[in-house]
Amino acid sequence: MARSTNSGVGSEALAYCTSCKMDLNHVVVSMQGDRMAKVECRTCKKIHAYKAPKGVTEPGGAAKATGTKKRASKKAAAEVQESNPVEVEWEKLMNTHRAAPMKSYSTKGHFTLGDKINHPNFGEGIVGKLIYPNKVEVIFRTDVKILIHGGQAS
Ligand SMILES: [Zn+2]
Repeated sequence: MARSTNSGVGSEALAYCTSCKMDLNHVVVSMQGDRMAKVECRTCKKIHAYKAPKGVTEPGGAAKATGTKKRASKKAAAEVQESNPVEVEWEKLMNTHRAAPMKSYSTKGHFTLGDKINHPNFGEGIVGKLIYPNKVEVIFRTDVKILIHGGQAS
C-alpha cells in the first residue's frame, strides 16, 4: 500500500464540487506545483478545477451560484403545475355541456355520456365514461368518481 501521505495525484481531498454544489470528497487528478489543479468528484465523477471547500454540506445551502452558465434545470419549472388537472377538465366539460339539463344523481337514474349530474356529496359533475353494465365515470370538480346507475330495485 504505497499511498503517499502527501497530497498529490490520486489522493483524496475535500473540495467544493461545482456540479453537486457542495463540499465533497474528490480525487486529485492533476497538480500544479504543490497545488491541486484538477479534481474528480467522487459523487458525480466530474473532473473540474479544484475549489476550496465552502462549508456547504447540502445542495443549495449557502451556495451562491457563481453566475456561470450551466445546464439550468428547466424541468423543475415545468413540473410546477398549479391547477388541478381534474378541475381544468371539469371546467372544460361544464362549458361544453352547459346547455344540458342538470339531473340529480340517484342509483336508479339512467345517465349517459355528457349528462350533468348533481350529486349530494360531490356537487356538479359530467358523465365522462360509461362503464358496462351499470356504472358511469363522473368528473366532478375535485375528483373523478365511479357511480352506480340504472339500478333496479333489488
Ligand atoms: Zn460532484
